[in-house]
Amino acid sequence: MIRFEDLLEKVRAYSPDADVELLRRAYVFSAFEHRGQVRHSGEPYLIHPLAVADFLADMKLDVVAVAAGLLHDVVEDTLTTIERIQELFGPEVAHVVEGVTKISVIPFASSEERQAENFRKMLLAMVDDIRVILVKLADRLHNMRTLNHLSEERRVKIAQETRDIYAPIANRLGMSKVKNELEELSFRYLEPQAYEALRAKVDARRRATEGLIGQLKTTIAAKLKEAQVPVIEIDGRIKRLWSINQKLKRQKIELEQVYDFIALRVVTEDVKECYAALGIIHQTWSPVPGRIKDFIAMPRPNGYQSLHTSVISEHGMPFEVQIRTIGMHRMAEEGIAAHWKYKEGRVGDHRDERYFTWMRQLLEYQQEVRDPQEFIQNLKIDLYPEEVYTFTPKGLVKAFPRGATAIDFAYAIHTEVGHRCVGARINGKMVPLRTRLRNGDIVEIVTAAGHKPSRDWLNFVVTSHARYEIKYLIRLEEKSRARDLGRKVLEKEARKYDVNTKALFSGEN
Ligand code: MN
Repeated sequence: MIRFEDLLEKVRAYSPDADVELLRRAYVFSAFEHRGQVRHSGEPYLIHPLAVADFLADMKLDVVAVAAGLLHDVVEDTLTTIERIQELFGPEVAHVVEGVTKISVIPFASSEERQAENFRKMLLAMVDDIRVILVKLADRLHNMRTLNHLSEERRVKIAQETRDIYAPIANRLGMSKVKNELEELSFRYLEPQAYEALRAKVDARRRATEGLIGQLKTTIAAKLKEAQVPVIEIDGRIKRLWSINQKLKRQKIELEQVYDFIALRVVTEDVKECYAALGIIHQTWSPVPGRIKDFIAMPRPNGYQSLHTSVISEHGMPFEVQIRTIGMHRMAEEGIAAHWKYKEGRVGDHRDERYFTWMRQLLEYQQEVRDPQEFIQNLKIDLYPEEVYTFTPKGLVKAFPRGATAIDFAYAIHTEVGHRCVGARINGKMVPLRTRLRNGDIVEIVTAAGHKPSRDWLNFVVTSHARYEIKYLIRLEEKSRARDLGRKVLEKEARKYDVNTKALFSGEN
């Protein structure tokens, strides 16, 4: 169990000027509000916010984030209001706690791929401070680590949501350490049999493999030293069960055929040394054709940088080597969180330039960043400024362009629902049809049989689908009205001249 004093020490170590009084007050308040509550494990509830705060401190985040970690469940689980949090801990902490509370109550309905993607986008769109996501990920990580105390049904639900929503978000933010652990735990709880079977197989190979990892590390270290390529760290490990599992499934192969069952990592000071190390490794062992990837020259979309290669050991065992600089390594492990650290992220320091570029692209953040303080204050996520995400009453996510209204929603459900739409209930309240949708709205459309769209709707719909359908129906209506009118005029004239119109119209209909 984490002691609060240890948490304070941890924060002080990376941030000597941190406002520890704020943390102390947040801790005391959280302890008081959660008093008497217990976790499913039977432990006092307070263990959870403490663990979340501790994890945020491991990421070296600022006191606002750590305090929000301590308080993150207070509004949801006790009678405390967000106003009270603001009064006691200031607007910033309150804002983060409120954000976490808001996204925690959204029901996640379907793990169907497109729905999950929309849900992830909506979640990110609802958040305007990255610390909200970081607290939420820390929260989810602790809940996943303690999942075995819940009922089977709850376990599966939470693990599924973690796999579909939170692991991909961690991935998008470049936080591979968190992503990996979330995926591994989801695998364990969602497919317990497959997980155990694979674990047994991997364990059987572990002893032999660990000896080999040791040898390979020694060899690489010696070769690099000989070539005078300085390294900071050489690390070796067996691939995670989840990624092995994915590989076996995707490529339909056996465990013995997995090329990167073992992965070694070489961490250097700078980029030049990465390429030098790659050269040495290829001279030592034969590279596997087609497995060399230069993510330094061409980073992955989430900013990940590294050189990857697979080589065959002298015992005929293939293994993967990843080579990167210490800066890239830090980014690869912690992603966006790496920039929340105190006294880091100095702009102009070219080591971070590429990261900032990625960050700005990621956040579609146009403004020039001048100093880290400003960076933190201005970093408002608006990842999808062009879109708005809403729910059907059954919890399906519908995405629209910004500015879309209840009418657009109705047409997105079905053309007929659009045509017959007479009203809308948003979050349980009747609203005018022209009401613009906001992220997270739950929208219910009220229809009446025989109702027709009005031309006026064209003034406020924004989706081309709705616009097209409305215009189409109006034109159809106008055409038939014109035809009726024309027929009446004609019949009237015909009567005057005693002409039988029946014969005239017989071909028509
Ligand atoms: Mn929580």
